[in-house]
Amino acid sequence: MQVIPASEVHDVIVIGSGAAGGMAAWNLTRQGVNVLLLDAGTPFRRASFWTHVKPWEWRARTEAGRKPPQFRLDDREQPIDTPKDKPFDLYRVWGRGGKTNVWGRVSLRYGDVDFAGPAKDGWEIPWPIRYKDIAPYYDKVDQFIGVNGGPEDLDVLPGSKYHLPPPAMRCGEQVLRKAGESIGIEFVHGRRAVLTKPHNGHNACHYCGACGRGCDVAAFFNSSDYLLEPAFKTGKLKIIDNAVAARVLTGDNGLATGVQYFDRYTKAERQVKGRIVIVAASCIDSTRILLNSKSARHPNGLGNSNDVIGRYLIEQIRFHMSGFVPDLIGTKALNDDGISGEHMYMPRYNHRDGRKRDYLRGFGMQLWNTGAQANAGFAKQVDGFGLDFKKRVKARYPALVSLHPYGEVLPRKENRVVVDPKHLDQYGLPVARIEFTTGENERKMAAEMYDMAESLLRAAKAEILPFTRGEVDTPGLAIHEHGTIRMGDDAKRSALNGFCQMHEVKNVFCVDGAAFPTSTEKNPTLTILALAWRATDYLAQEMKAGRV
Ligand SMILES: Cc1cc2nc3c(=O)[nH]c(=O)nc-3n(C[C@H](O)[C@H](O)[C@H](O)COP(=O)(O)OP(=O)(O)OC[C@H]3O[C@@H](n4cnc5c(N)ncnc54)[C@H](O)[C@@H]3O)c2cc1C
Ligand code: SF4
Repeated sequence: MQVIPASEVHDVIVIGSGAAGGMAAWNLTRQGVNVLLLDAGTPFRRASFWTHVKPWEWRARTEAGRKPPQFRLDDREQPIDTPKDKPFDLYRVWGRGGKTNVWGRVSLRYGDVDFAGPAKDGWEIPWPIRYKDIAPYYDKVDQFIGVNGGPEDLDVLPGSKYHLPPPAMRCGEQVLRKAGESIGIEFVHGRRAVLTKPHNGHNACHYCGACGRGCDVAAFFNSSDYLLEPAFKTGKLKIIDNAVAARVLTGDNGLATGVQYFDRYTKAERQVKGRIVIVAASCIDSTRILLNSKSARHPNGLGNSNDVIGRYLIEQIRFHMSGFVPDLIGTKALNDDGISGEHMYMPRYNHRDGRKRDYLRGFGMQLWNTGAQANAGFAKQVDGFGLDFKKRVKARYPALVSLHPYGEVLPRKENRVVVDPKHLDQYGLPVARIEFTTGENERKMAAEMYDMAESLLRAAKAEILPFTRGEVDTPGLAIHEHGTIRMGDDAKRSALNGFCQMHEVKNVFCVDGAAFPTSTEKNPTLTILALAWRATDYLAQEMKAGRV
């Protein structure tokens, strides 16, 4: 097939338009830098979202052959490999905004318990930054995208002066909060990137609770409306949709010269040229692109002479436990939809009591599905038959409480992404193979997580729904992949410096979660946004000074 090379040399090529790529494009274009963004998908149009389609209308539509927008990329189009005994459930969204079209919006700051954790306990490499380095960027992100939250300010969950008002905690959440107090577990208001009042020209949330289908009024942060649209207004941004980046191209000096990509549908191969390349295709896809960018100067993948890229894949362990709290059984069902997901969060606490654990790091907990929300799927777990069953379900509808603890997974060399030259995708590119298991540390942590969840439900005197102690979700389901292109001060053990710039290839940056040396127990997107903002401020300065 004929390759169509380009003659224009762009200032910066960004690969990916999710949280990371969107932030990079927005921050650079507003500083006068010309950006070409390659995105593997087609734009999602808000007007086509099925946010407010009622169940009966949904049925009529699907019976008529219509489909809601398909956010999740079908693995049959773009496969990944996993060993049979090591499943990994990878959730990818290809298209403008990436996963921020459907993300859960939980927006938690990392603290020095996280940034200094590895240096303290010695497990793998330290973060090259501390809270003070990123705090100004968390402030800017909170103000720019709008994050609601309470006044709490904790070592493990630093506060923010810029939170929008939080939604009230639901009745079930308040019952859990009281139960937590009785056994020394502290809860705080949830922190979510949902607008509880109009903000920076975006609409406030109207509490329909249907965020998982995409918000048709953009009342929660998504990269497309909040970052790409203002970036377009600068006149400095160009996007090529359906451009599946394959490789970063390099010159004889080993530096990047551009990107090779394939049209998603016609499969035509093209090349674009740039002075700088920013990889932001989300952890696994970014890793795959760098590993596939082999050349004489980079035989083990781009900037990977130390064999770090692809290794140290980290995620989080997670499980679910639910129950019905007697205080609320049989009470009037209120509309608990709210901003969907939780209005309350349990921060990590296991570092506070001074008790030595037999595992490293910690866990926090989310509480989505608590209360009388649109989803009555819990009924499947209620006993009974006929009218009695209906009464029991109705009585329990307001009383459901749902616990979802998330625990940190330690980085280990053998947990990795490789590219498989024997398994090629439809463009002839080696697909990603993910080899990942959790270990002893996670097993021990899960035991305490189960103890915590069960004691909390017992303190609330809940009817606890059946659970299997020790069981955790299939890896990948937390949708927080990190670590495979990690940052660090030691160039022998990391791929990037603290500004997300490659140690070995100075004109290549990676600004997504792959850059994180640890996963923490928290959701990463707020930190991805803050780090991408910081990295691109640094890049803009370096470009002005002529150093890159
Ligand atoms: C259901 C769900 C709930 C979540 N809940 C939360 C939450 O509550 N809090 C939180 O912090 N995080 C949450 N996440 C995770 C969050 O969405 C991600 O952390 C965040 O979107 C990552 O941003 P990113 O830019 O790295 O990747 P993405 O947002 O996935 O964007 C990747 C971009 O890269 C493009 N791309 C991929 N491959 C290529 C290629 N080869 N060439 C060109 N472009 C490419 C894609 O089209 C896309 O635009 C959730 C995710 C999901 C799916
Ligand atoms: S609950 Fe709010 S943010 Fe979610 S879809 Fe409805 S309006 Fe949008």
